[in-house]
Amino acid sequence: MTKNEISEIKQLLSSSKKIVIVPHKNPDGDAMGSSLGLYHYLINLGHTVTVITPNDYPNFLKWLPGDESVMIFEGNLSYSKKRIDEADLIFTLDFNDLSRTGDMAPFLEQSEAIKILIDHHQEPKDYATYIYSDVAMCSTSQMIYHFIEMLDATADISKNIASCLYVGIMTDTGSFRFPTTTSLTHRVVADLIDKGADNSQIHTNVYDNNSYNRLQLLGCALNNLKVIPELHTAYISLSQEELNQFNFKKGDTEGVVNYGLSVKGIQFAAIFIEHKQEGIVKASFRSKGSFDVNTFARDHFNGGGHINAAGGRSDLNLNDTIEKFISILPHYKNDLKS
Ligand code: 5GP
Ligand code: MN
Repeated sequence: MTKNEISEIKQLLSSSKKIVIVPHKNPDGDAMGSSLGLYHYLINLGHTVTVITPNDYPNFLKWLPGDESVMIFEGNLSYSKKRIDEADLIFTLDFNDLSRTGDMAPFLEQSEAIKILIDHHQEPKDYATYIYSDVAMCSTSQMIYHFIEMLDATADISKNIASCLYVGIMTDTGSFRFPTTTSLTHRVVADLIDKGADNSQIHTNVYDNNSYNRLQLLGCALNNLKVIPELHTAYISLSQEELNQFNFKKGDTEGVVNYGLSVKGIQFAAIFIEHKQEGIVKASFRSKGSFDVNTFARDHFNGGGHINAAGGRSDLNLNDTIEKFISILPHYKNDLKS
């Protein structure tokens, strides 16, 4: 962001505004952490703020400070639309394209509010008045910290803000282990701890709340893991029947794709999860090194994301989706060398 843009935003925020904050559909830890972190910052400035998520999010995020104020678009259509209509300012967080908000997209497009995009995904679309995009950042939550820093306001970071931003950074960096985690990330995190984020308790809240069913589902997923050693690729599938067997709840499959990547020598991991009701198979892709799963997801699975983490979908059934995946892989033989 330029100095000019920052002073314009400072000016905008200097009087009370109606503000809506929107994360992407199927919000994850970074989407919710960045949204609620910004929410607390703006509320403390005296603005009227509503976080509206396109749909519901996992229970392991429902302890976040401010969670009770979050509105879910799906199921609160008229109230959400009213909030969007009335908004002076809309922050769109942790996504690069309005289509990532699903059914909310047309209402956001029509809105005349000033839009501010803050995001770390590749190739942001040009829908916002102000764009703060940095694909090298580990998380949008870290960007919210820097956004507050640009506004010369890190002294105003409360325990609630710090806790929310910590969640987003922790989850998007795989607990500070992915290569996007830099010394700057650790400096930001150190400051968040100084400002009241209880790092150990937050880790417990997010990761140590497995149900027995969830672990059994993980066992099933690991049982289904297939490895293609010559292509340094591993993939997992979960059918709707398997999800039902273990009483699948939103968030239960979060992170499972990473187990494929933990097999020695594997550079590319995928998971395919059947969603019978929506008639789609949701795909997640992860890689190590230079293999670009963002392009892979864009080119073959109607998705996108980052170089080492992306997602997408397929309208084929589960078996056909996997067959398609396996048939595409040999084209990447040269990129998938160890
Ligand atoms: P996940 O596999 O955890 O759902 O997502 C990995 C990354 O890819 C996240 O940054 C997420 O925002 C992005 N992503 C996931 N699904 C899609 C999709 O369908 N389209 C696009 N453009 N990005 C996605
Ligand atoms: Mn993110």
